[in-house]
Amino acid sequence: MMLGACTAMQAQEITSPDGHLKVNVGCDNGVANYSVVLDQDTLVCKSPLGMATSLTWRTKDRKSYTGDYTKGVQLAKMSEVKQVSESYSLPQTKKANISYTANEAVYSFQNEAGIPVFDVVMHVDNSNVAFKYVIFAQGDRKACLVESEATSYVLPEGTTTFICPQMTPQTGFARTAPSYETFYDYDAPMGKNGHGRGYTFPALFKVPTKMVNAKSSNGNCAWVMLNETNIGGNYCGSRIESTGSRSYGIKYPEQTEFGGVGSSAPGIMLDGKGGETPWRTITVGRDLKPIAETTIQWDLVKPQYEAKYDYKYGRSAWSWIIRMDASCNYDEQKEYVDFASAMGWEYLLVDALWDTNIGYDRMEQLSKYAQSKGVNLFLWYNSNGYWNDAPQGPRGKMHRMIDRRKEMAWMQKAGIKGIKVDFVGSDKQQTMQMYEDILADANEYGIMVIFHGCTLQRGWERMYPNFVSCEAVRASENLAFGQNDNDIEALAGTIHPVLRNAVGNMDFGGSALNKHYSKNNERGTTRKTSDVYALATAILFQTPVQNFAVAPNNMTDAPAWAIDFMKSVPVTWEDMKFIDGYPGKYVVMARKSSAGNWYIAAINADDKPLTLNINLLDYFNVAETVNIYSDDANLQGSVKPFKVGKIAPKIIVPKNGGVVIK
Ligand code: CA
Repeated sequence: MMLGACTAMQAQEITSPDGHLKVNVGCDNGVANYSVVLDQDTLVCKSPLGMATSLTWRTKDRKSYTGDYTKGVQLAKMSEVKQVSESYSLPQTKKANISYTANEAVYSFQNEAGIPVFDVVMHVDNSNVAFKYVIFAQGDRKACLVESEATSYVLPEGTTTFICPQMTPQTGFARTAPSYETFYDYDAPMGKNGHGRGYTFPALFKVPTKMVNAKSSNGNCAWVMLNETNIGGNYCGSRIESTGSRSYGIKYPEQTEFGGVGSSAPGIMLDGKGGETPWRTITVGRDLKPIAETTIQWDLVKPQYEAKYDYKYGRSAWSWIIRMDASCNYDEQKEYVDFASAMGWEYLLVDALWDTNIGYDRMEQLSKYAQSKGVNLFLWYNSNGYWNDAPQGPRGKMHRMIDRRKEMAWMQKAGIKGIKVDFVGSDKQQTMQMYEDILADANEYGIMVIFHGCTLQRGWERMYPNFVSCEAVRASENLAFGQNDNDIEALAGTIHPVLRNAVGNMDFGGSALNKHYSKNNERGTTRKTSDVYALATAILFQTPVQNFAVAPNNMTDAPAWAIDFMKSVPVTWEDMKFIDGYPGKYVVMARKSSAGNWYIAAINADDKPLTLNINLLDYFNVAETVNIYSDDANLQGSVKPFKVGKIAPKIIVPKNGGVVIK
């Protein structure tokens, strides 16, 4: 195909390796577009592509052009389709060994003068579509801002949404928002725009379909999850805003985020091959299995540096969730070291205010004592900085490289193994650069990193080997703060394993066995979920360093079978399988531990008790005896042995209850 003003192409199709998933890329009236079809069902209708850049240039014949590619472009050519495949290991995620095969093609767009302006790289496997832009240098320009994107997702009529509204920047506790901590809309109609500023990734949609869906108990529908990946210091994080009755468009951070510091528009280098934007991903399925099990967020990224140390994952005790700020003193942290040691857990997370309430010298003593008991420490840090007012210390240690490296050198000397950096609410490129810099520096000193009050990671498990997890969820702290979160704990619990946690490790900090969120277990908010629910979410909520809310008093006031389970609960996994679920109602999943043992876990949030009929022979050997942890109708839990045979055990899960089979 020749380039030129009069040689625009018709839309061109690329299909998945199995031929079921099809993407059409074309151009109508100067606007690039794409659509996504699964067999005969359209899941993403014809939707705009393109972006407006800050480029302006003049050609030798003195004609002027601008880099607004949201209009006035043509599809010039489509490359050959090439098959790409890869295998890699990622033992700190839901699947230790990952492999994929996909088809890729490059669609080249030109402006009206026939000048190549950008490519769309399209990557299609059997359940994921991903695309990125490559924007070309023009004239003498070697860099640009990408001021906005036309990239949109137009969904079929009747689609319902499972999405999280974006928070208003510089609101919330001490101006720390946005931090991905709002309530989901469940099965809500399209056309709303959250709190007026759209929704965060990942976003889930239920799309009505023509094709009869015998496989799914959810009726004739398909599921579509939107996300993005490969974002560190190279770009900003994005969100989606409602741009019509059934359309959502990519939007960049707001200028007020991060205390107003930094550009809301990302900047990119334009070298010889052009500058790349992040991958935008669309994961689809007739049921939620491909979504819960997707690895597309890691398939499309590369490690940004080698692990300098051998990072060890494990279970962690954490006093703050039950005893709050007051517990951050030497004596109570020592009590928690003893508790972690008694549980056989590897870590203790010491939360905010340790710098003043314990101090650096005594922290060295605490770390030494902990190590003598087989426990290592994670320390909390405030990200600040100049972007919010959060008063908790240590402050001002993480945002500049010189201070950060001094602090991390001290940590290494004191045997500290990890940090939890809190209050980083922004998706600006400058903020993403800071996340990346903290991770890269921490790797130099053998420090693992958890972020809280933060953005969503976008491929970071593979990009940064010492990255553990982000919060980016309305997490357990809200169970301590207010009763409403407890009243709907199970409802929210059923969506995380198939959505938020599907795209990356999630620091939820759950599995409380206290009846009340307080030290004496009498005052405070009241837990409505069962003890088996706590065990089930220890399996369903995945992150390789779990900060559990189990407390020292639970050694005597919680059931012995629950404590025994939590002593041996795994945090690293070889594999996982989605079994069944409906966000807001129930979820059933199986995870295979790195030691090779399957755990099947379920929770139920629906008024209607959930009846499970799982073929255990898919996971266990015939005549093998497994333990079934389950609840009676009054949420009283127990554990019973069961001999695996042809007949599946009949298990009923009441509302707010759970099941674990191991
Ligand atoms: Ca938080």
